[in-house]
Amino acid sequence: MAHETGPVVIAGAGQAGGWVALTVRQHQPDRPVILIGEEDHPPYERPPLSKDVLAGKAAPESTYIKPRDHYAEAGIDLRLGVRVETLDRDAATVTLSTGESLPYGTLVLATGMRPRALPVPGGDHPAVRSLRAMADLDAIRAALVPGRHVVAVGAGFIGLEVAAIAASSGCAVTVLEAAPHALGRVVAPEVANAIAARHEARGVAFRYGTQVAEIADRDGRPELRLVGGETILADLVICGIGGVPNDDLARAAGLSCEGGICVNASGRTSDPNIYAVGDVSRQHNLALGRSIRLESWQNAQNQGIAVGREIAGVPEPYTDLPWFWTDQYEDNFQIIGAPERWDRVLWRGSPADDKFTALYLSGDRIVAGNTLNNARDIRPIKQMILDRTPVDPRLLADTETSLVKIQKLQAAL
Ligand code: FAD
Repeated sequence: MAHETGPVVIAGAGQAGGWVALTVRQHQPDRPVILIGEEDHPPYERPPLSKDVLAGKAAPESTYIKPRDHYAEAGIDLRLGVRVETLDRDAATVTLSTGESLPYGTLVLATGMRPRALPVPGGDHPAVRSLRAMADLDAIRAALVPGRHVVAVGAGFIGLEVAAIAASSGCAVTVLEAAPHALGRVVAPEVANAIAARHEARGVAFRYGTQVAEIADRDGRPELRLVGGETILADLVICGIGGVPNDDLARAAGLSCEGGICVNASGRTSDPNIYAVGDVSRQHNLALGRSIRLESWQNAQNQGIAVGREIAGVPEPYTDLPWFWTDQYEDNFQIIGAPERWDRVLWRGSPADDKFTALYLSGDRIVAGNTLNNARDIRPIKQMILDRTPVDPRLLADTETSLVKIQKLQAAL
């Protein structure tokens, strides 16, 4: 019982950790809540970092989940610039970078992930940068000067978002991608090519099937040597080749981890007094029927709230279909679902119209959807995926009928 009433200690004051703290406080006003974060900022949302904040259109503070003062006012002990260094499960304590040993009743690991470093000689050149945190912004922004050459290594979301801002800033931009198309495995090649074409129309050059072998320093600038021998001189290299979950504390303490900290439907790890949330956690997703580690705003917030409720004794089960968005130039691109496979992609509209919906079909079911500047289609797609509604491809292809209407028609059959 002591564990259920003792202090809630949260390691990692990011989006997920922040929501756990706020939610526990809401439902258990008297329980000590200690939120420990190694960054100097209170919990904030990261998506704007590679969008409006990098572009100088939004202030860093606009990303804060709550104003800095809110935590003290709410009685949350927020400790910034402090790292959780070790976890002792037998003693139920964590040690901090300040040297303090802190007892917990319930511990939440909300440590997120870190960008994967470029694993080549010279990958640590000072002009090779990743974008994960507020502290990464200044060096990147300083290099976005007209005429400079920005090279994005990895055509994932962060690489493409930075490429869009760099191109809009007047930089020459090259995107290097090891795979034959952009946007990894969650987006169909034909859809990814449609997105890449929108960059190419703004002068961005894509090089697929390309890998960096080495980075040399040429008068302070990084010179990339590709496998095959070609060299590319850059002013800034954005490394966007994915991330690694910060599960070190959990692994060292013997918690079950498989590319992320394994948690059950309630967010509990293999130790009943320890939870994990957000990017660092791996959970069975009921809607997908498999376990997955999600790196998304939606999951960080909703899973954080769900775990906060669970800890506070007011549980509300959480599972959702993965949903993700990205903004590039004036475009808004959204993804609903995360299928491992599909048979075909059915298009409604065309990239030439600056607006389309792509439906991923497996047999007679929709398993995922993408929208470009067509966000209102996300809701009916999500409903059809969740309902596992058998669909008629001829009806789906009829762009005179809205997807909302089609979803209702199909559901009524
Ligand atoms: P984080 O927000 O990373 O928070 C973890 C915190 O824990 C960090 O502050 C970290 O420094 C701290 N920490 C780690 N270890 C320790 C320790 N030992 N002690 C103390 N503190 C520690 N998602 C979308 O859905 N749409 C988007 O458009 C989108 N864009 C993104 C753009 C960028 C540039 C980035 C980086 C992410 C984007 N995401 C997007 C993903 C989304 O932001 C993440 O999924 C979300 O931030 C995860 O929240 P989290 O709390 O799990 O991790």
